[in-house]
Amino acid sequence: MSTQKKILLHSCCAPCASASLERLLEADYEVTLFFSNSNIFPREEYEKRLESMRDLAQSYHVTLHIDAWDHSSWLACVAGLENEPEKGKRCLKCFEFSFRRTQIMANNLKIFTFASTLSISPHKPSKILFEIGSQFPGFLAMDFKKKNGFQRSLELTRTHSLYRQRYCGCEFTLRS
Ligand code: SF4
Repeated sequence: MSTQKKILLHSCCAPCASASLERLLEADYEVTLFFSNSNIFPREEYEKRLESMRDLAQSYHVTLHIDAWDHSSWLACVAGLENEPEKGKRCLKCFEFSFRRTQIMANNLKIFTFASTLSISPHKPSKILFEIGSQFPGFLAMDFKKKNGFQRSLELTRTHSLYRQRYCGCEFTLRS
């Protein structure tokens, strides 16, 4: 029986997942990727990010699970916060939405630990992510920004020719 530690990695996009995945594999985790991004709009953009995620999973020979694109539920979750700036209150709800779905998937898969690639982004304060994550049993506060994680993600994005988006994800940052 494998003694490797199992972890489900909520993955917002392939570039952020690349260096996060590498870090976890180096730490001897058995990683399963979870693409859960109902926040992404429009659907064509979601599909582009998903396609790149599939390429990454294939390159590293790791399992990828894909959540439904439930943008209407996501919009309901952030209702009333549409005019918030990026990094504002809408983003807190958005993080919570993704973490909740990841925890449900982790339980379904009997992988009782999960982390998120969101912590690699310089635009996403790890402290805030970890505060929200702490509401969810099994959340592991892994700060992928550390040890130049973001820089490494840029290198791996070039190496694997991954698609790097120009905006965070939802329609409210697309228009700004
Ligand atoms: S800006 Fe990004 S983190 Fe904030 S609500 Fe939109 S998709 Fe979510």
